[in-house]
Amino acid sequence: MPEDILNIISSIVPKENIKTKELLKKHTTFRIGGYADFFVSPENNGQLSKLVKALNDNNIKYYILGNGSNILAPDEGYEGVIIYIGENMSDIEVSGTKIVAGAGALLSRTAKEALKCSLAGMEFAAGIPGSIGGAVVMNAGAYGGEMRDIIVSATVCDRNGNIFILTNEELELSYRHSIIEEKEYIVLECEINLKKGKAEDIKAVMDDFSSRRREKQPLEYPSAGSTFKRPTGYFAGKLIEDAGLKGYTVGGAKVSEKHSGFVINTGNATAEDVRSLIKYVSEEVYRQFGVVIEPEVKIL
Ligand SMILES: Cc1cc2nc3c(=O)[nH]c(=O)nc-3n(C[C@H](O)[C@H](O)[C@H](O)COP(=O)(O)OP(=O)(O)OC[C@H]3O[C@@H](n4cnc5c(N)ncnc54)[C@H](O)[C@@H]3O)c2cc1C
Repeated sequence: MPEDILNIISSIVPKENIKTKELLKKHTTFRIGGYADFFVSPENNGQLSKLVKALNDNNIKYYILGNGSNILAPDEGYEGVIIYIGENMSDIEVSGTKIVAGAGALLSRTAKEALKCSLAGMEFAAGIPGSIGGAVVMNAGAYGGEMRDIIVSATVCDRNGNIFILTNEELELSYRHSIIEEKEYIVLECEINLKKGKAEDIKAVMDDFSSRRREKQPLEYPSAGSTFKRPTGYFAGKLIEDAGLKGYTVGGAKVSEKHSGFVINTGNATAEDVRSLIKYVSEEVYRQFGVVIEPEVKIL
């Protein structure tokens, strides 16, 4: 069977873009995750859509990985194909106030490109360590801005390899949600519209956000950012702190002392440590305050 899978993949994607037994912890910001059977980096939209169709037609399990900054990968690894959308699909083209970015382009690089062209509106995204694809899926946002504010449309493909465009409205973007996950679409590229601004003002806003991040967030430890979504009317971090869980530890996983909304990997955390910590924290917050906090991090 693994030979058959390899034959299918290598009939579509060049051999040098296919790895077997690849450690997922190398590809997640949590630095957690065992071996994936196959780790494939398609070179373009055509290869990606053909690959997805072939895997789907042959009932082979796959998972889409962007920059791995919102994922908890299992210690046992992944029995199937990880499709990595990264540098190979990361072209950025600017024309006027529009930017078309490949799904694999990093938000930080795209925001830098916007700054270079004096385009304002993407400052909020410069410090989010995700890819454009992951940011569309999650409707990533920070400091009062979110992808919904700047997306014109996204080019996506479905499980049958059909490629089409979804407008901002059709993406149904809301707090850390889009239609992509529900429909199992894959983001291939995204068109963004920004406004003409002054480079020095844009840079000043980016610098301000970045120093606020460094001051408030435990960036010195591996994590997946805010572990929980913001429950309506509350802040997850505040609830966790008020529940007395700041610094609470399970194995190598810990509620950050700097920002209680972050679960950090203090060195040797396993996915099981993080899962147990998430479960304990949510149960304890519910027991003490009757508020449900849901994980924002995707559990692979
Ligand atoms: C230190 C730190 C700070 C953070 N701060 C913020 C913040 O301020 N705001 C915020 O919103 N998030 C933040 N995050 C979380 C994370 O960066 C975002 O959710 C980001 O959008 C995830 O992008 P990614 O490319 O890393 O996606 P991944 O983690 O690789 O994937 C996330 C989900 O999207 C899916 N996916 C990824 N790419 C695609 C694609 N091309 N097509 C279809 N599905 C895809 C995956 O299957 C998975 O379900 C932070 C994370 C860290 C580690």
